[in-house]
Amino acid sequence: MQFDNSSRETAIASNLKTLYGIKNIPGDTYLRERLDELPASELQRAFTTLIQTAQRGKVLEQFTYFENYYRLSIDGTGYFSSSEIHCQQCGEKHHRNGNMTYYHQMLGAVLVHPNHSQVLPLAPEPIIKAEGSKNNDCERNAAKRLIER
Ligand SMILES: [Zn+2]
Repeated sequence: MQFDNSSRETAIASNLKTLYGIKNIPGDTYLRERLDELPASELQRAFTTLIQTAQRGKVLEQFTYFENYYRLSIDGTGYFSSSEIHCQQCGEKHHRNGNMTYYHQMLGAVLVHPNHSQVLPLAPEPIIKAEGSKNNDCERNAAKRLIER
């Protein structure tokens, strides 16, 4: 049986309808717009639930490395950049020619273990400008918040 994208989408639509009662499936753009309005703390709760589940299932124990410690790998990444579209929390890069680049970045953190090819992601920490602030946030400050959380 050939299983191209359209038959896959039909199968997904069918599952959403029969399993969850969703009749009209929102488009990609609509989902992105809705997620943009969600505070990061809402996403953090989902990650917390996943970690708690991993803890109860003894998955976290497999990631202890030295005595009862974990290895946490942290790195920053950008996920939005535009010369026009922006919000109040966008980082701003002022170019010499007068142009502006607006951007969003985040700090990703994953539990790693040298014997496992899989990693356990923790909730990312947004690197965003605080409301009313004129200064850009930075990776170091985001790391402080992430580690404290
Ligand atoms: Zn923005």
